[in-house]
Amino acid sequence: MASIKLERLIKNYGTFRAIKGIDLDIADGAFVTFVGPSGCGKSTLLRMVAGLEEISGGTLKIDDEVVNELEPRDRDIAMVFQDYALYPHMSVAENIGFGLKMRGMEAGEISKRVKEAADILQISPLLERKPGQLSGGQRQRVAMGRAIVRRPKVYLFDEPLSNLDAKLRVDMRTQIKRLHNLLETTTIYVTHDQVEAMTLADHIVILKDGIIMQQGNPVSVYERPISRFVGEFIGSPKMNIISATVSRDSDKVNFTNEGFALSVSACEKADGQLIEVGIRPEHLIPCDKENALIAARVDVLEPLGSDTHAICLVGKQELTARLDPSLRLSPGDTLYLRAEPEKIHFFDPESGDRLE
Ligand code: ATP
Repeated sequence: MASIKLERLIKNYGTFRAIKGIDLDIADGAFVTFVGPSGCGKSTLLRMVAGLEEISGGTLKIDDEVVNELEPRDRDIAMVFQDYALYPHMSVAENIGFGLKMRGMEAGEISKRVKEAADILQISPLLERKPGQLSGGQRQRVAMGRAIVRRPKVYLFDEPLSNLDAKLRVDMRTQIKRLHNLLETTTIYVTHDQVEAMTLADHIVILKDGIIMQQGNPVSVYERPISRFVGEFIGSPKMNIISATVSRDSDKVNFTNEGFALSVSACEKADGQLIEVGIRPEHLIPCDKENALIAARVDVLEPLGSDTHAICLVGKQELTARLDPSLRLSPGDTLYLRAEPEKIHFFDPESGDRLE
């Protein structure tokens, strides 16, 4: 196992700065996910840790040793890619053991490690098959087997599940988490899928344009996003954002627009100020008209079985509520909704920063 430290890490591609001075501490045995929209720099950052991209500035430390100039093979890191090219003419066992063989490991030890990895990944019955005789999920497990047998200090995953169908992705996600619980090896996992990032990580890092927007425990990031960007990026369906105007009225502050009125007793917002109010779909609660914060017109209903997504209109603004499926609704109905005060977020409409 190993701790990893990034200090003001920079990556330039010619005149373009892809990574803009990132500081990050990864604890020994942690599972860290890098998540963010396409082009935010997550793969570049991972490849810098692997030694596959030159570092333009700053320091990368593994176990307190500066490794900026260390060759990838000397970093004791194993990487699993999205494209898990297996050797088609070799059996599963040969594919898993190939890296060890190239390093000159003795055949008995290779066979022992291959068996152990196959047990962990539950692919022991497949060891004699060729990759062409495997499903996508099984092939991905073989690729993970290649990483496990090396017993490295660090695992790096670059979107390893992107090529799998939805159900397999979920199965493999559980496998990866189980694997980490078992091996406790420091892991960095890159994904653009926020559900994968949330469920796997004990520390999530949200990137945008080569900068860390927020990092921390996934639940605390979900509960207290520091910006509209993070609020909308984490959580599914995404956070509703409603624009409103502040009007001060004695000891109350009202946030109003068509179909929406929220009063808060103590608040610093100035009269006439525009504001963005964020409420997650799962935090909207149906209620009677008197207690409603929102009067929404139901536009489209999406029944999922476990719950129903009601896509509604509040004035001209769209909003999604995640509701109990037993609630009988039809398009065109008026739906009155409220939310607990601590579940309501305020953002600056210009900067997107969290207010209060
Ligand atoms: P995706 O989810 O699409 O894979 P990403 O977050 O992994 O995106 P990176 O691949 O790390 O993004 O790329 C970060 C930025 O650096 C992008 O703007 C990309 O165009 C740029 N970039 C990546 N590799 C190179 C390269 N070899 N030369 C020039 N620019 C590059």
